[in-house]
Amino acid sequence: MSKEAQQRMEKIVSLCKRRGFIFQSSEIYGGLNGFWDYGPMGVELKRNLKDFWWRRNVHEREDMVGMDGSIIMNRAVWKASGHEDTFNDPMVDCKNCQARLRADQLPRKDDTPYCPNCGSRDLTEPRAFGLMLKSYAGPLENDDNLVYLRPETAQAMFVQFKNILETSRKKLPFGIAQIGKAFRNEINPRNYIFRSREFEQMEIEYFCRAEDGLALTDYWLEERLKFYEDIGIPRSKIKIHDIPDGERAFYSKKTYDLEYEFPFGLSELEGVAYRTDYDLSAHIKHSGKPLDYFDEEKKEKFIPHVVEPSAGVDRTALALICEAFDEEEVTDEKGNKEVRTVLRFHPRMAPVKCGVFPLLKNKPALVEKAKAIAASLRPHMMVFYDEAGAIGRRYRRQDEIGTPFCVTVDFDTIGENGPEKADTVTLRHRDSMEQERIPISELRARLEAAIF
Ligand code: ATP
Repeated sequence: MSKEAQQRMEKIVSLCKRRGFIFQSSEIYGGLNGFWDYGPMGVELKRNLKDFWWRRNVHEREDMVGMDGSIIMNRAVWKASGHEDTFNDPMVDCKNCQARLRADQLPRKDDTPYCPNCGSRDLTEPRAFGLMLKSYAGPLENDDNLVYLRPETAQAMFVQFKNILETSRKKLPFGIAQIGKAFRNEINPRNYIFRSREFEQMEIEYFCRAEDGLALTDYWLEERLKFYEDIGIPRSKIKIHDIPDGERAFYSKKTYDLEYEFPFGLSELEGVAYRTDYDLSAHIKHSGKPLDYFDEEKKEKFIPHVVEPSAGVDRTALALICEAFDEEEVTDEKGNKEVRTVLRFHPRMAPVKCGVFPLLKNKPALVEKAKAIAASLRPHMMVFYDEAGAIGRRYRRQDEIGTPFCVTVDFDTIGENGPEKADTVTLRHRDSMEQERIPISELRARLEAAIF
């Protein structure tokens, strides 16, 4: 990472802590590597992201339904899916400094791998390191009770395929969507929330006929790019990596990785994979239950194929923050230059939609009016009422958390400068810092049109 990129990342991490986006999990006890907590702003950002993903992929589509599966499932699921045997990273240990390292990510000199920590070439042979976190369901900690915290949400959608097909009465092609926690005992959690041990996924399993699989993979790639655009990550910032033959999972006929240019480098945000009928076939084989599909019109029975767009909530949240983070030099009313830190979130994603301020906190009429405006907007959007400090400081605080609009109640609002200005407020725009005067009666509609 360049020095500049590193500084940018440090500023982002510091802002996220200072303004209540992201904290280290169990911070007062020294934290826990690979685990994070989202504060009041972070939880709103994630919620906006998940709600919009759900709206786009479930509510606005006739061919999709949702589900919410349990995190812990019968161990047989992970045997059938292949995770128990193969979901692992090959690791080596450095015999000199004892570091445990991913074999496929070792630096090389003269074609010989060496330890990035101490430079030693004295490494063990690669060994498989299981990525699934284990626990026990029931009172006895024995092999019969061994369970895994799911490493992906996808499997619940495969094993419930028949129940969902029958209860939703959908016909192919149709999809199931799910958002939920996943856990991986990553050997090397890093890059802030990018690679953690507990994270959230937003996954779709889109079932179709074999002959439509490839075209639908391209279709979903396009849908996903549109989605990122609609949350403020332009197409130009996403690199599509068409995984070549030989590098894809053996069952996949096509896989696109969508990569975003994070300050620490181009890294995977989402994968769109055509998984053929591999998953359903594996569960049919292991469970002995029919998970096939009967086409009434053609009187045909077959195992559907599936296209899987699988995105990470945390990685997307981080991309949103990185994309939004900006610093610009501005001149205040007194002519002093200062740096304004601003998160230029798409209004749809912004944790707080509107700040509401009385110009002065010691004027009851202003305070009362501002509080009434905040209360009238609250059922419709996330509002932040603030009366502390100079108005310029209050704007800056909202800029730092990415609030797209601020409303100020002043003496015009309460009719002190004539009836024609009464019941109007100043609406201030975050990006341009422009202010306009609008009637309170138009406020909600104006904001809603720009936000949702
Ligand atoms: P990587 O190669 O970065 O380990 P992956 O290819 O193993 O990722 P998938 O199994 O395809 O990831 O998981 C789908 C999505 O889940 C990823 O695109 C990512 O957004 C998210 N994800 C996977 N692992 C993690 C993690 N450890 N922390 C945060 N998000 C993750």
